Amino acid sequence: MQRACEPIKASLRNNRNPLLYNSFLASSPPFVAIFQFMSKLWQARFFTTVNQLRDLPTTTAPEIAFAGRSNAGKSTAINILTNQKGLAFASKTPGRTQHINYFSIGGAHVGQHRKDPTRIDEIEALLVDLPGYGYAEVSGSAKLHWQKLLGDYVQRREQLAALVLIMDSRRPFTELDIQMLEWFAPTGKPIHCILTKADKLNRNESTNALRQARQMLDSYVDEDGEGFPFTVQLFSALKRIGIDEANDKIIDLLGLTDVERDPNAVLIDPVDSDD
Ligand code: GDP
Repeated sequence: MQRACEPIKASLRNNRNPLLYNSFLASSPPFVAIFQFMSKLWQARFFTTVNQLRDLPTTTAPEIAFAGRSNAGKSTAINILTNQKGLAFASKTPGRTQHINYFSIGGAHVGQHRKDPTRIDEIEALLVDLPGYGYAEVSGSAKLHWQKLLGDYVQRREQLAALVLIMDSRRPFTELDIQMLEWFAPTGKPIHCILTKADKLNRNESTNALRQARQMLDSYVDEDGEGFPFTVQLFSALKRIGIDEANDKIIDLLGLTDVERDPNAVLIDPVDSDD
């Protein structure tokens, strides 16, 4: 029986459809459960896209939002964390760039087609891809629209459990990153900073970048002199640095329990070009 499952398992793996593969595992008899290998984040699938706060989904599941300057490596980080090459890339198609894109975790089922609707009441969590900021080419009014959308969303969205702030490790905490941080800090919710492209730094530079970022975050205190729940890590999609750390942090911030990971899992390589 176990052997009979192997070709299906191999074919699902080769198709690189984590949702389908996970569904297969979930539906399989207990002895197959030992093959569970993926992160919960690998179940992410496109849910919806919104351009106005009033269109935000009425879901109650916890959300974690990814913010960052354009070109900081946000899409790449989302893709590698969800192990899906095209997930956040899809948001780069014209017209979608200025939108907030939602990816759901949970709510999809065994044998379900990729295009079948997600079962909203079964969504466990949502990953929220916020529009990248700092685009030089964007017109003044569009920029204002984005800023208002971003500011209002991070400050007012109750379901938002935490913010992931994606910054290039070589130039973190730009003016707009700090703006984002200061918008969100008063909510008292956690911010996890991911310093991307760590492969561009040598060992000393990496140590310094991390230390300076920690100092920067520690410099924020509330009226009582208490620090904020800010954390930071190094990350490289190219060299696969910090992926487990980021995964575990996000799972924790969303209040999810991750599944066991298999060292033989098929991993995507989402970095096409090096900037
Ligand atoms: P976004 O605009 O923030 O979504 O940024 P992208 O994910 O599109 O990445 C911007 C550029 O940085 C692309 O050329 C990526 O290939 C590159 N990039 C992303 N992550 C890494 C990384 O870990 N290392 C290196 N060297 N380049 C990266």
